[in-house]
Amino acid sequence: MKTEYLTKLAAVFGLCLTTTLTAQAKVNVVATLPDYAAIAREVGGDNVDVTVLAKPTEDPHFVDARPSFVVKLRQADMLIDGGAELEIGWLPPLLQNARNPKIAAGQPGRVEASQGVRLMDVPATLTRAAGDVHAMGNPHFMVDPIIAKAVAAHIASSLAAIDPAHAAAFQTNEKQFEATINAKLQEWGAKLLPYRGQSLVAYHDSWVYFAHRFGFNINIFLEPKPGIPPSPSHLAEVIAEMKAQKIKAIIVEPYHNRKIAEKVAESTGAKVVEFAQFPGALPDTDTYVKLIDSLVNHLTSALK
Ligand SMILES: [Zn+2]
Repeated sequence: MKTEYLTKLAAVFGLCLTTTLTAQAKVNVVATLPDYAAIAREVGGDNVDVTVLAKPTEDPHFVDARPSFVVKLRQADMLIDGGAELEIGWLPPLLQNARNPKIAAGQPGRVEASQGVRLMDVPATLTRAAGDVHAMGNPHFMVDPIIAKAVAAHIASSLAAIDPAHAAAFQTNEKQFEATINAKLQEWGAKLLPYRGQSLVAYHDSWVYFAHRFGFNINIFLEPKPGIPPSPSHLAEVIAEMKAQKIKAIIVEPYHNRKIAEKVAESTGAKVVEFAQFPGALPDTDTYVKLIDSLVNHLTSALK
């Protein structure tokens, strides 16, 4: 009886020990936004635990920072953020409170996704006048799949530095992601080819990298400046411009005021197109590739 008990105890203890070791073996990755998280999951596979702070339906500039975020950041082995002021309105105080040296800027545990990315629309002089939230340049670069590949490579090399035992696995996963994107770029390019060169309107200036990659002009916005809500006088100008250029689509994201976009669409005969920067914000978009698939499909059906 006693022996049986001890055997059981040993079995339970052994199980606990194994679980603990397995849990420790995984790199604890925190991503500020769901696009970085999706790519970290692809690259990290079974060797990482990924936690994401913002919801896919939240505006990345204005995320509701909860106290639980500090705890998550304190326990992180790695933090992936944009590093181009996208999260400047909410991340810095969380990092200060978390006091985690592993994820300090410059450490292997800190991936600033914008490192090595050439930002578009960098102003000649830095100004945050009138509340412009893109003062350093446009921070919405992840919707360009070629930039996403570079970020995947950056994440893979940082994971390898933190967990050298799994470096080969990270590299294999990253090459797989790269191969998938390369194949998909052909498909996406072919689907969008008939509409290349068209102008589109967007609620917020989040699509300049997508436009650049796939050959669209997205230079007119319902917001007068990034982060500033639409005003009647600005919308009147947008409507006039849309009529003059015969623009057929207005891109809105989940956290935008859809009614405003619908009013502009009614006045111009354009269609409102559901777009999102983040995997999980639209149905069946739990991976980065599925998200871009969805954007391409939504756009082609609006422009048909
Ligand atoms: Zn923005």
